[in-house]
Amino acid sequence: MSPVIPIQASPSPGLNAGSTGCSTPQPAAHHVLRERGQREVFCGLTGIIWLHRKIQDAFFLVVGSRTCAHLVQSAAGVMIFAEPRFATAIIDDRDLAGLADANDELDRVVTRLLERRPDIKMLFLVGSCPSEVIKLDLSRAAQRLSRQFTPGVRILNYSGSGIETTFTQGEDACLASLVPCLPSTAASDAPASGASLLVVGALPDVVEDQFARLFAAMGLPRVQFLPPRHSTELPSIGPDTRYLMAQPFLADTARALEDRGAQRIAAPFPFGVEGTSAWLMAGAKAMGVGAQAVEQATAPARQRAQTALAKVRPALQGRSVFFFPDSQLEVPLARFLHREMGMQLVEVGTPYLHRQHMDEELALMPAAVQLSEGQDVERQLDRCRAARPDIVVCGLGLANPLEMEGMTTKWAIELVFSPVHGYDQAADLAQLFARPLDRRQRLAA
Ligand code: SF4
Repeated sequence: MSPVIPIQASPSPGLNAGSTGCSTPQPAAHHVLRERGQREVFCGLTGIIWLHRKIQDAFFLVVGSRTCAHLVQSAAGVMIFAEPRFATAIIDDRDLAGLADANDELDRVVTRLLERRPDIKMLFLVGSCPSEVIKLDLSRAAQRLSRQFTPGVRILNYSGSGIETTFTQGEDACLASLVPCLPSTAASDAPASGASLLVVGALPDVVEDQFARLFAAMGLPRVQFLPPRHSTELPSIGPDTRYLMAQPFLADTARALEDRGAQRIAAPFPFGVEGTSAWLMAGAKAMGVGAQAVEQATAPARQRAQTALAKVRPALQGRSVFFFPDSQLEVPLARFLHREMGMQLVEVGTPYLHRQHMDEELALMPAAVQLSEGQDVERQLDRCRAARPDIVVCGLGLANPLEMEGMTTKWAIELVFSPVHGYDQAADLAQLFARPLDRRQRLAA
């Protein structure tokens, strides 16, 4: 039997419910079904697909097998007009002859790459899970190569291994590896006094610009973002840094930032009108901006988003949704679908439930919701089949079989690839769930 763990969620301290028209959240004790069995997840290499687009002078060199190369290549697509900014150094049979050979080979590949590509200013050596790669010490390789290529190129390493990870942890590992490189506020050009605001988590540029504009309209023009668009624009951090998480899967990055003295701002995540309002309000409050300034700055975007959501709501209202654990976005997305789109939550599965980071989200969830953490895929499939939800959010490996069984699915990975944060994307986020339901209805007609 899987143990059931009760957890107590507290009300959101940073939430101004009045700004969104939603009722004040009440603390709720949720029961979490914890499962430790076979899992169906992608590996952390997947993060390269959005990270290489975000940090425009970075290169991601996967040290892996042919399988890793195929995964990254097929997921990211082949770029025809631009030089790619990711590749795989394939450890093959020749390298298995001895570890020293593999290190020499890696140095040779990196040297050739950096000589040929002077546009690369930051190189990530990304580990994978084949046993011969795990034996290779990539952190020592990064240090060794840094001695050769610094200051022109910064060389870092992290693991995207598929063992005991979810695919979004690749971004977490990448950003955590960046944190020690961030300049200290004391030593930087940033104003010496007063707190600074840092938004953490890769966002599409268009979304980042929207948030920057909203913060500027509240009187906060110097908000920093991690990761930056260029390796030369690393945000500075220190004890005066208050950071706001834009993604819920950044536990290691959060820990690394706190080790540097930064303090997390407790907030729900910026999905939907309610989540975005509460997130912006929490950030503004931490920086000493009053609620009225936030209300004024956000009113037009909020109104636009509410109007757009109203058009999608009839397609989702009253429909049921089942989340398999995949991206770690499940809890905030379920909160949005339930509270703003009127959907029924059958089960909200998540790979890890970070109690502290999810506190504000859980306070907004209905007390009776079935939460599950971890996975025993066969048991979960049984529960899903028994419930026959209107839509199932799951990984690619489960989507096709479930579609064959007549269920409507949504690929969890698409929710990470698509711009879904903030006011102007709220209706697009809702549409990602409405479209598969519409398609199923048309097929059935
Ligand atoms: S890191 Fe592991 S799980 Fe990911 S593609 Fe490579 S071999 Fe497969």
